[in-house]
Amino acid sequence: MLRDMSCVVDSHCHLDCFDDVDDVVERARKFGIAKLLTISTQINDFKKIATICDRFPQYVYATIGVHPDYAFNVSFEDLDRAFLNIKNKFVVGVGEIGLDYRSDISDENKKQQQKVFEYQLNLATCNNVPVCIHTRNAISDTLDVVRSFQKSFGVFHCFGEDVCFAREVLDLGYMISLSGVVTFKNAHTVHEVAKFVPIDRLLVETDSPYLAPVPYRGKRNEPAYVKFVADKISELRNVDPTYIYNKTTKNFMNCFNI
Ligand SMILES: [Zn+2]
Repeated sequence: MLRDMSCVVDSHCHLDCFDDVDDVVERARKFGIAKLLTISTQINDFKKIATICDRFPQYVYATIGVHPDYAFNVSFEDLDRAFLNIKNKFVVGVGEIGLDYRSDISDENKKQQQKVFEYQLNLATCNNVPVCIHTRNAISDTLDVVRSFQKSFGVFHCFGEDVCFAREVLDLGYMISLSGVVTFKNAHTVHEVAKFVPIDRLLVETDSPYLAPVPYRGKRNEPAYVKFVADKISELRNVDPTYIYNKTTKNFMNCFNI
């Protein structure tokens, strides 16, 4: 039996990474995914992202921003220019922004990431729009930066930290978004978070084309699979999947003011 899932949303995907984007979006629609949010990672992405949003009005929305992996060669002037697009009707937030301290990263690079993160968080706050935060191996620095922007709000995406960090994120008023990682058998930490986060603070995402959920683990991911993320959360919380679809969609709409 086909389950009613007309109300689940993919709060984080990268549609500009797909060569067959029209098919990917149509498949999401066919599977009953209600809306998609495609996330920028570089300034140069945005043109392509804008054309995708234009083709699917009121279905595909976008954020604008620079991922920490691309922070090293971006200037504040570049950011100011790019952020003029924030008034576009399909732009609903800033992201993904944050800190990513991969093991080989230099102190100079970390400093640059922090500067670019702070600058974008400030632009988001000034425009009163939500941010989508990426953090890896950088918990305490990320929290320090976010704490210094009291009026900022948004979501910590692809959450992979523990309940303790989740509590701090929630205390800052942010949402927590879970990805396909929650479907992985050994992801015990994320399973605990999936049970812990209050239902009105939870979002679901694919982060596609990366991180495909079970049963597609290791394959290319796409927004249609967000259902598997929500289903796993419903199993962990012992509630009906429709409840997770509806609640996470409502949270998404509220957070991104759609
Ligand atoms: Zn992403």
